[in-house]
Amino acid sequence: MTAEQTGSGPSAATGEPLVVLDGVQKWYGDLHVLQDINLTVHRGEVVVVIGPSGSGKSTLCRAINRLETIDEGTISLDGQPLPAEGKALASLRAEVGMVFQSFNLFAHKTILENVTLGPIKVRGVKKAEADQHAMELLERVGVAHQAEKYPAQLSGGQQQRVAIARALAMEPKVMLFDEPTSALDPEMIKEVLDVMVDLAKRGMTMVVVTHEMGFARTAADRVVFMSDGAIVEENTPEEFFTNPSSERAQDFLSKIL
Ligand code: ADP
Ligand code: MG
Repeated sequence: MTAEQTGSGPSAATGEPLVVLDGVQKWYGDLHVLQDINLTVHRGEVVVVIGPSGSGKSTLCRAINRLETIDEGTISLDGQPLPAEGKALASLRAEVGMVFQSFNLFAHKTILENVTLGPIKVRGVKKAEADQHAMELLERVGVAHQAEKYPAQLSGGQQQRVAIARALAMEPKVMLFDEPTSALDPEMIKEVLDVMVDLAKRGMTMVVVTHEMGFARTAADRVVFMSDGAIVEENTPEEFFTNPSSERAQDFLSKIL
């Protein structure tokens, strides 16, 4: 199935490899948390990662922006291997936007300051320019009118949309989402997913860990199913949900759907 048929990423079928994991292995002591992970995310592609709790999804995300080290294998971004440390690592991190389950906004900074901090400090953008770009992004995620408020004055859904705007302000090449709606009250989930669907339509390359199967069905170009540290199945959303090939995916889906 082409990306067009799934109605999401415009360039998934043709985009060149952007994030490439090759033979990635990681252990926590005796626990083999990432088992020979081979995964290529193409430019403009939306990959949704699904799997039971403890299967290594967060570790995978954290490895991609090197919040975690890996023991074997390689991860590269846009043709460059992930640097180990130092300035090169900082600039790589700026290319990978990450949105976590908990919003992690700076409590003592305004919404606007939360979004402009990275561009000003890390990218050296002038304040006026950073402010203008931030306001455009806040507009896009529907919280521009809250720009002068502090995070605690916003709902969880609004805070998570700010967290997305903050990540986008760095103009990342890829966005990683690790269960971005899991901490939200049910009525706020859709407003965050809508922002993510919009982002996907604009051609952003995205890796999304989520239990929101509706999002996976509509926005994913590809579903990756993880179990016990391994990628057990990679499939189109259509196939994954109607006819999963692995027993473990069948078992998982039978419990949640
Ligand atoms: P998921 O996001 O799929 O729920 P995680 O990547 O968070 O899974 O965790 C995978 C496994 O690794 C789990 O068994 C978890 O307990 C373990 N784990 C995660 N982080 C650490 C750590 N820092 N030290 C030791 N074990 C960890
Ligand atoms: Mg997790």
